[in-house]
Amino acid sequence: MVQVNGNYLKLKAGYLFPEIGRRVKTFAAANPDAALIRLGIGDVTEPLPEACREAMKTAIDEMGTAEGFHGYGPEQGYGWLRDAIARHDFQARGCDISAEEIFVSDGSKCDSSNILDILGAGNKIAVTDPVYPVYVDSNVMAGRTGEAGDEGRYAGLTYLPISADNSFAAEIPSEPVDLIYLCFPNNPTGAVATKDQLKHWVDYARANGSLILFDAAYEAFIQDPSLPHSIFEIEGARDCAIEFRSFSKNAGFTGTRCALTVVPKGLRGKTANGESVELWGLWNRRQSTKFNGVSYIIQRGAEAVYSDAGQKEVKDLVAFYMENAAIIRRELSTAGLTVYGGEHAPYVWIKTPEGMDSWGFFDHLLNKANVVGTPGSGFGAAGEGYFRISAFNSRSNVDTAMARIKAL
Ligand code: PLP
Repeated sequence: MVQVNGNYLKLKAGYLFPEIGRRVKTFAAANPDAALIRLGIGDVTEPLPEACREAMKTAIDEMGTAEGFHGYGPEQGYGWLRDAIARHDFQARGCDISAEEIFVSDGSKCDSSNILDILGAGNKIAVTDPVYPVYVDSNVMAGRTGEAGDEGRYAGLTYLPISADNSFAAEIPSEPVDLIYLCFPNNPTGAVATKDQLKHWVDYARANGSLILFDAAYEAFIQDPSLPHSIFEIEGARDCAIEFRSFSKNAGFTGTRCALTVVPKGLRGKTANGESVELWGLWNRRQSTKFNGVSYIIQRGAEAVYSDAGQKEVKDLVAFYMENAAIIRRELSTAGLTVYGGEHAPYVWIKTPEGMDSWGFFDHLLNKANVVGTPGSGFGAAGEGYFRISAFNSRSNVDTAMARIKAL
């Protein structure tokens, strides 16, 4: 009989969203008239920008002509999109990143998992706790961890707790690590990092020969112009970091799918024998072999994000969600809850009320306000006692949900 990848059997997560689904289903069956409002998920709700849709329609029509037809494209993405990304997202912010260093993909979820293909099995890996679960689960699947313990933490991983006690800023690990996942603005806590904080990580990584995997999927939500959008705004980051970006949250591409990974030329790792190897070449080889590129139509849609009309629409979308976040913060604070995040990120991270753990607060909101959020403990043991509310929703849903919670 064929052997399965036994690492999958170690997976504990996959527990969070199914368990939320189970509790919501039970509640809905018992209360068929309840109008549930879901503020739990990280999916966007507003329509695709017109500039993107128009560009995609034009691209579809082009595809219907012999001259304009596009078959397989470059696995790394079309040059015109890579150019636009390098110019607008990086060079305009003073980052020394070229188009050749941009790899267009169908998602930063895939890229942040697939990157393990080019990294060795012996690396010591650090993740924050709580964390975007994909970083942990992809390492479990790849056999880079041991079994999970009682708290759901996997043997072999270094967990860096983030909570109100350290202002949601992970401390530099006391033991040396090779690979560090950082996500700013942060999912789930909504925290952001200053340049000084990132510099600290870059200095650590350079001193230890570590690699930072920097997830900037939410960079568009940063409101304070002094905060960095990219790790490459930090001097020295080209020698120690890879960055993931996405069109999912700024331009509503969660269903359309387009993202990118930046791998600087000259960034190096070593083989088991100590030989130095450039990571760009390995990632290029990996993508060329296992990926056939994002559709021409979607890449034209992504390119339109950088047009004047596209930039305005994306700015308006972000402003809309951030207004939701401001309403959530304001109303929940008025209701007596302690809130974090939501100022430079579409997530508000709430301290659960005295005497209620994350799941207790979930049940309370579900039963009493018919509002669904996400228990913080689902993102890691240190998320216990917290709760995530997403700003991705219609204004009327946010207003109604807040009024219900305030009335409790
Ligand atoms: N990174 C983080 C931190 C996320 O929260 C998400 C989605 O929720 C992603 C990446 C996934 O992005 P994409 O849609 O590009 O795969």
